Order: sequence, then structure tokens, then C-alpha cells
Amino acid sequence: MNMAEALHLKEPMARHVSWRAGGHADRFYVPRDVSDLGAFLGSLPESEPLLFVGLGSNLLVRDGGFRGTVVLMHQAKLAPEMRDGQVYAQAGVASPKVARLAALNHLSGAEFMAGIPGTVGGALAMNAGCYGSETWDIVARAVTIDRGGRLRERPRSEFDIAYRHCRPPGEEWFVAAYFALPPGDGEASRKRIKELLARRIATQPLQLPNAGSVFRNPPGDHAARLIESCGLKGLQRGGARVSEKHANFIVNPDGAASAADIEWLILEVRRIVAEETGVHLVPEVRIVGEPA
Ligand SMILES: Cc1cc2nc3c(=O)[nH]c(=O)nc-3n(C[C@H](O)[C@H](O)[C@H](O)COP(=O)(O)OP(=O)(O)OC[C@H]3O[C@@H](n4cnc5c(N)ncnc54)[C@H](O)[C@@H]3O)c2cc1C
Repeated sequence: MNMAEALHLKEPMARHVSWRAGGHADRFYVPRDVSDLGAFLGSLPESEPLLFVGLGSNLLVRDGGFRGTVVLMHQAKLAPEMRDGQVYAQAGVASPKVARLAALNHLSGAEFMAGIPGTVGGALAMNAGCYGSETWDIVARAVTIDRGGRLRERPRSEFDIAYRHCRPPGEEWFVAAYFALPPGDGEASRKRIKELLARRIATQPLQLPNAGSVFRNPPGDHAARLIESCGLKGLQRGGARVSEKHANFIVNPDGAASAADIEWLILEVRRIVAEETGVHLVPEVRIVGEPA
């Protein structure tokens, strides 16, 4: 396979985001490996807009599409591995695999990643977290790539890390991470993973297309509680609906929602919650591209 074969034009992004909605990417590239990715990035004009995508579980591409190149990092065949006592994972590895390998090696602290249905790259970029833990709590260092295809291994201290946010120092994207975890009890970790997954199944509309929590939790409160208190569960626009099961989720039950339906609901929920409670919710999901 050469570069041209891996480059798709007008790729529908609804195929690559968990909401199953939205427009196309003008160009869409699936790198074979990191060196292929480097060569591809180096071949692009400096001005080409780039969007790295993992499993699209926190992403909405507007109906008019993305005027640039999407680089798809997720590969189902990728697996994390042990390196000098740390878990090493390429950015395209699905996050739950990190949780499982850590438990298998009697390392604790990665259990929360079992329920986050994205990639390691997405978890690094979003500082994904739940149940009191965040991705960057357990990352020792990460490997990045820039437009020239140059790789850099950077310690945690070089990244700008915040709640549901992390940015490398320059214009760089994640290609791998090393997770440093304390010794634990593998059996206890597996039990915790099972409990956390059961909690999700009980509280989240996992059988319907969604993108997890739409809004960040405001300090000291929960976005879901605020949305529910405003009576917004079930609010609908076109094919999109505020979930009845979890108020901070927007679902696309029949796969018929447009990105505009979803974005309209996000803005409407935000407006009503601000009006009724005075709290300005901040979206956690990333919205990119052009309106139709
Ligand atoms: C059912 C469900 C439950 C969820 N639960 C949680 C939860 O408990 N906690 C939580 O934090 N999130 C949760 N999420 C949201 C989402 O799974 C996480 O944010 C996840 O880490 C995103 O990973 P991804 O690979 O899908 O990223 P994508 O959605 O593909 O991308 C998200 C952002 O990361 C950027 N990005 C992706 N890969 C890279 C890379 N290699 N380098 C640089 N930037 C990159 C993208 O450009 C985009 O801005 C949930 C989502 C769903 C659908």
C-alpha cells in the first residue's frame, strides 16, 4: 500500500465518530505506522488544517464537513506492551486495553480507563477521566510528532494539563505514552473494572449512539444534575435527544440526527441552564468543521 492508497477523499466522518452523525473530511489518512505518519505529515503543505482522530468518542464534525485532513490513529490490531515496568501504548490503542494489561501485570490505578471508549491519544488530548482519576495522573511521559514528522519524548512536566484538556508545548500530536503505575493486586483491579463497567451500564445509555458527557462538570456540581433540574431530559431536535437515562448525554437513537440537530441541542441546553440556574456549562465534546 502506498500513501495515495491510504488517502481517502470526502470520507463521511459519521463512520468514525460514536455519535454516527456529521459531515465528511475533505481528506482522510490512515497511517500504517509512525514512520509512515511522519512521511505523510512531511508531505503536506504547512497550511493544511489537521485533525487527529482516535475513536471519535468525543467529537462532532459539522454537516458541512472538515476542510482539511483527518488522520485516523485508531487501529484495532494495536496492543499496549510492558516496557521496563511501565505500560507503553501507541496513541491508536483503545484505552480499555491499557486498563486490562495493567491489571494483568498487577499494577493499579488504570482501572478507570476500562470504561472510556476512546484511544490513548484521545485520552491524552482530553485528559479523560472518571470516578476521581484522570489520564495524566498516571502518565510519566508521552511521545509526540510534529508537522515535519519529528518525534519527541516529553516528560509529563512539559505539557499544559488541566481538567479535560492537555496541550503539548508546540504544534504536536500524540503518538504514544508511558504509564507509570504502582504495584497492586491484579485480582482487585479486575474486580474494580467489573464494578465500574456495571455502574456505567446502569447509568448511561450505552446502547444508543452518543459521545459520553456533553458538558464538563462545573466546580462542585454535576452538569447532569443541573440539566435534569431544568426538566430537559427528553428534549428533542430532529433525530437528536437529551437522554432520559443520563441528562448529560445526547443520543442519536435512530442514527438520523444531523450534526446541526446535536449542536442545536447543546446550545439550547446551555442557554436554558444558564437562564434558570446562572451556571454557564462548558462543552466537553469537541466540535469542528463547517455548518451545512
Ligand atoms: C459512552 C461514553 C462514555 C464516556 N465516558 C467518558 C468518561 O468517563 N470520561 C471522559 O473523560 N470521557 C468519556 N467519554 C468521552 C471520550 O471517550 C474520551 O474523551 C476519550 O478519551 C476520547 O478518545 P477518542 O480516541 O475517541 O478521541 P476523539 O473523539 O477521536 O478525539 C477527541 C479529541 O482528541 C483529539 N485527539 C485524538 N487523538 C489524538 C492524538 N493522537 N493526538 C492529539 N490529539 C488527539 C482530537 O483531535 C479531538 O480534539 C465517553 C464517551 C462515550 C461515548
